Amino acid sequence: MEKSKVVALLQNKKIAIVGGGPGGLTLARLLQLKGANVKVYERDLSKEARVQGAIVDLHFDSGLKVMEAAGLMNAFKSNYMDGADKYRLTDKDANILIDEHEQVAIAGFGDKHFRPEIDRGALRNVLIDALLPGTVVWDREFLSMVQVNNTWDVRFANGTIDTADIVIGSDGYRSKIRPYVTDIMAAYSGATIIQGEVDYPENTCPEIYKMVDNCNFIAMGDGKTIAMQPRGDGGLTFYGASLHAENWVRSSGINFDNAEEVYAYLAEFYQDWNPIFLTLFKSCTHFTPRPLNYFPLNQMWDTKANITLIGDAAHLMPPSGEGVNTAMLDALDLSECLTGGGFQNIHDAIAAYEKQMLARAAMLGQEALEGIKDFACPSNESVQRLIEQLNQNRNNHD
Ligand SMILES: Cc1cc2nc3c(=O)[nH]c(=O)nc-3n(C[C@H](O)[C@H](O)[C@H](O)COP(=O)(O)OP(=O)(O)OC[C@H]3O[C@@H](n4cnc5c(N)ncnc54)[C@H](O)[C@@H]3O)c2cc1C
Repeated sequence: MEKSKVVALLQNKKIAIVGGGPGGLTLARLLQLKGANVKVYERDLSKEARVQGAIVDLHFDSGLKVMEAAGLMNAFKSNYMDGADKYRLTDKDANILIDEHEQVAIAGFGDKHFRPEIDRGALRNVLIDALLPGTVVWDREFLSMVQVNNTWDVRFANGTIDTADIVIGSDGYRSKIRPYVTDIMAAYSGATIIQGEVDYPENTCPEIYKMVDNCNFIAMGDGKTIAMQPRGDGGLTFYGASLHAENWVRSSGINFDNAEEVYAYLAEFYQDWNPIFLTLFKSCTHFTPRPLNYFPLNQMWDTKANITLIGDAAHLMPPSGEGVNTAMLDALDLSECLTGGGFQNIHDAIAAYEKQMLARAAMLGQEALEGIKDFACPSNESVQRLIEQLNQNRNNHD
């Protein structure tokens, strides 16, 4: 990376970004392009410490726009999964309702409807590889911090302490930085996802593997959904969403660390479905229950002088395909406010960013909440709507 002159507002300032997810890493890249002194503190022990999850699609006016601004479009193009943006939709008997696999490639870069998919691990690598060596500091689980004059002493679980002039919380949905900004808590959306990982689907559930065919797969029926996505390492991630009471994960009595117990629950819940789906559950070695929470849509706080939040830490919302894209857009907006030269001081730059970010999050959060029932408890109308939406996408490319 070429060294650029650091902008006035960030002159001699140390910036601590806590959390090396898509939001934090993107912000680090964008700030480094402006010559800022940035570190990303990540609790993972190393880059390879865990599989990052399944694929994620970047959108024209958010994720892709940010990759362009970060000078990483070519790196993205070398790593995205060509064709993985296609959908296959079936009913509960595995009868196909929509099959985009049948179509020839329908859109490409530059088309605003094109939403290329990338493995989350590959996206993370693209972002990390673009940073100056040593920018990401691994094994730094944030514990607490104290303000000393105008700086922060930041403490980590491994006993180390670092000092920063500005702290940015990008530490996701259970953010430990957030309480230093606001005491507004998350609420429960009414839906819980059971996420499952299948490491070798080609061997353990070959029919499912063939059906998914490296793309997005959704099956809907009887008010239930199963969504599946390929991982870049050949594995599969699936999500089963349902409406449940707030503390269902505990009150259900299911031990989610015990794959047999979760399988027994899923086999009963989906008992009227084509048995092919049971082979998916049987192959799954690792389940994670995810109650879907969100921060209130009307949340607001008094801007602090030298600390703010981006991504899920700022505006957790139920999954709607926007989370990664929005975290990256937050990073772009914040970096522009801090480095664009339009503000007298850091407080005002953060205030302008937060205003923009909260307004966008309220709008997207509303859509995500409205979409929950269609996913977690789909009616026949929900299925029809999805079919129409996928058809509409197709027509946009014709
Ligand atoms: C089931 C499900 C499916 C989803 N599907 C999609 C999708 O298809 N498309 C999409 O755009 N979004 C999707 N999302 C949402 C998306 O995953 C998030 O919105 C996005 O990852 C937020 O990015 P982030 O950088 O803010 O936080 P995260 O991705 O959560 O990253 C936070 C980082 O901070 C680190 N960290 C956490 N705590 C600490 C600490 N104390 N100290 C130091 N480091 C810490 C974590 O290890 C992690 O690396 C989905 C979410 C769920 C739950």
